[in-house]
Amino acid sequence: MTTTQPLELLAPLSGVLLALDQVPDPVFAGRLIGDGLCIDPTSQTLCAPLAGVISSIQDSGHAVSVTDDNGVQVLMHIGLDTVNLGGQGFTPLVQEGQRVEVGQPLIEFDADYVALHARSLLTLMLVVSGEPFTLLRPDGALVDVGQPLLRVSPGEAAETVDEEAGDALFSKPLTLPNANGLHARPAAVFAQAAKGFNASIYLHKQTQSANAKSLVAIMALQTVQGDTLQVSAAGDDADAAIKALVALLAEGCGETVAAPTAVVEPCAPLSSATLLRGVCASPGSAFGQVVQVAEPELNITEAGSGEALERAALERGLLAAAEALQALQTKAAGSAQAEIFRAHQELLEDPTLLEQAHAQLTNGKSAAFAWNRATVATATLFQGLGNALLAERAADLADVGQRVLKLILGIQDRAWDLPEQAILIAEQLTPSQTASLDTRKVLGFVTVGGGATSHVAILARALGLPAICGVPVHVLALANGKQVLLDADKGELHLDPDLAEIEQLQAARDQQVLRRQREVAQAALPATTRDGHHVEVTANVASLQEVEQSLTLGGEGVGLLRSEFLYLDRNRAPSPEEQAGTYSAIARVLGPERNLVVRTLDVGGDKPLAYVPMDSETNPFLGLRGIRLCLERPELLREQFRAILASAGFARLHIMLPMVSLLSELHLARAILEEEALALGLKELPKLGIMIEVPSAALMADVFAPHVDFFSIGTNDLTQYTLAMDRDHPRLASQADSFHPSVLRLIASTVKAAHAHGKWVGVCGALASEALAVPVLIGLGVDELSVSVPLIPTIKATVRELDLADCQSIARQVLGLEEAAQVREALRLYHAATVETSPVVEH
Ligand code: PEP
Ligand code: MG
Repeated sequence: MTTTQPLELLAPLSGVLLALDQVPDPVFAGRLIGDGLCIDPTSQTLCAPLAGVISSIQDSGHAVSVTDDNGVQVLMHIGLDTVNLGGQGFTPLVQEGQRVEVGQPLIEFDADYVALHARSLLTLMLVVSGEPFTLLRPDGALVDVGQPLLRVSPGEAAETVDEEAGDALFSKPLTLPNANGLHARPAAVFAQAAKGFNASIYLHKQTQSANAKSLVAIMALQTVQGDTLQVSAAGDDADAAIKALVALLAEGCGETVAAPTAVVEPCAPLSSATLLRGVCASPGSAFGQVVQVAEPELNITEAGSGEALERAALERGLLAAAEALQALQTKAAGSAQAEIFRAHQELLEDPTLLEQAHAQLTNGKSAAFAWNRATVATATLFQGLGNALLAERAADLADVGQRVLKLILGIQDRAWDLPEQAILIAEQLTPSQTASLDTRKVLGFVTVGGGATSHVAILARALGLPAICGVPVHVLALANGKQVLLDADKGELHLDPDLAEIEQLQAARDQQVLRRQREVAQAALPATTRDGHHVEVTANVASLQEVEQSLTLGGEGVGLLRSEFLYLDRNRAPSPEEQAGTYSAIARVLGPERNLVVRTLDVGGDKPLAYVPMDSETNPFLGLRGIRLCLERPELLREQFRAILASAGFARLHIMLPMVSLLSELHLARAILEEEALALGLKELPKLGIMIEVPSAALMADVFAPHVDFFSIGTNDLTQYTLAMDRDHPRLASQADSFHPSVLRLIASTVKAAHAHGKWVGVCGALASEALAVPVLIGLGVDELSVSVPLIPTIKATVRELDLADCQSIARQVLGLEEAAQVREALRLYHAATVETSPVVEH
């Protein structure tokens, strides 16, 4: 690199200068990202400290980096933990790739908002390319924007960033497993490994790319656990480099991590175990032969051959994809499938996605590169929001991304030439692949990735294909043609099944198919036990479509409307009118004879909501969740109450407060509700109830009962708080079991307290959707089971096969057992003895 004149970096803001050591953040204070300084700002416009090109700007507008012609890269980061504000309070004035003059305004920010909502307003200016510098002003000095602050010596950086040459190979996206992202140690391991190859190698995160041989550049990516990364390489050993580096990333780059979520090649030796366990994505069982499904690596050229040509190529790809999706919709077997492909079509028209792709085209990139960048960046954003449902929607985006990409690259989708009785094994199947499976040949599938709520799981259920996901990665090393037995109900893949096992499962499968047909045919019948005890079976819903579907499957109302899911994809709060419209539309569909239980916003914990930015918390599940957050921001609750109240009269309206742990929370919320009802001139208040999902509320149910109209037990949270086990922890999944006697005892005491005060009790947690749990819940006196929509016919049919008196006795029996496994076993035996047909479907 040529040596050039020293470069002066000017103050990007006015404010008080602080040494990095004083920043209360170990990453910045430890100079892990780069050395520089910090300003406690008194102005609100961040300006360029040097002339150059915007090399990255976070979508959330809180950080930007500028790289000058000599490769000096300066990162500015406004505030600490400001990524959590989701863009609120920041107005970016520039775009990635744009050339800027020194002193040019880059980002405007609302200092009051940031100071109130983020950990700190302290703003960092870091020389991330690693050149040495001298400070021109002392600590504590008051500086004005534009004053010289640092003198940098360009050309002396430890590492330089090469331009990637030639056609680059891209790895498949993979999820970063390291708990603290690629911080110094794993980044150093990764960079060291990259240096062992001749190829020029890059690590990509959203729209940012880092030279993989540069420790500083990797750290500047600021990766966090769960980030989607891609490795690209160009050169003679590119292929080997990608394989080695992807495997290294999946293994944690020298850190201990949970089982890798993605690898390019199956490399772990197959264990001698004869059973692999996963999670049930779609019930059923099958015996067949292994068929490994691997997607080919796509060769994406970065540089375009002229903007007009590339634009036309992207247009063609999008058009062809839209046509293919239309065809898939037309031939979809059911509305759930058609709905998914309609959503995919919408993604093709998504303005943000297209804007991102077009910006890349303007920068001279190829259509394939531009589209790939845009979809990967957005999928990463979905995954980074920390919300399981949104993360699974990222799979849909990846699917659409690949569809268009292949069309642009002219790659024919390989028509799978499948043998008969195939059990597909894949790292991940896309919704498109799932929907186009030939069900005459495919008996089921097993994936390493995915979750029980993914669209792939929904499709598998719609197709009636048994499937399990979350299976250890060495399943990818099973030989094609190997005979295996898939028992999706138990989440198991048997690698060495014996004949008896196979015959048993086959018989069970046949019975299950018949049973499901009968259940759906009889879905409209009431859920009344043989001895005449009626239990209300209602639906857990998150959209108007689900409400409509629940009615066709025999749902008797809505027992839980998860209102936080209605507007998940919004950065801004829906207007009061829009909210009122949504609730009223749902209420109208239900009509005046059916219950509608609307749960007020349950944000926080595992469910962040983009339009309700929150500070990051050390223990979010024990922090500002549910009603606590709403009472901190009463305007939010007030507005939601108003919108819900607008639907009063269309259905039997119930309002339910989530995560209540103190009586005072109920009183405060009721007071706000009463004020709003009065202001609207309502003569009658809707029913007001609380969720029982915190042990304090369950234990004090007798104290709460006089003040509520009903309780609904959220067994998902009640289990995690009772057993002190994170509901999403992969290694605790089998122990965080709602069948644990401690949880059942809390249900029992809650029901007793409620009934003593004449109040009804529902269960809306996932336990209610388990057929195995129905006898014990009925026996404990639960009045309503609010269940996931597809399971309504099964739960109703199960109720019709029981006797209340028997249920009471089995309930008494299991309350005295020691652990969840014993409860399950007792219920299994009871079920086999009572319920006419075969095994119970567990989810
Ligand atoms: C529960 O916790 O059981 C519940 C129904 O609420 P959610 O799953 O939405 O937290
Ligand atoms: Mg809950």
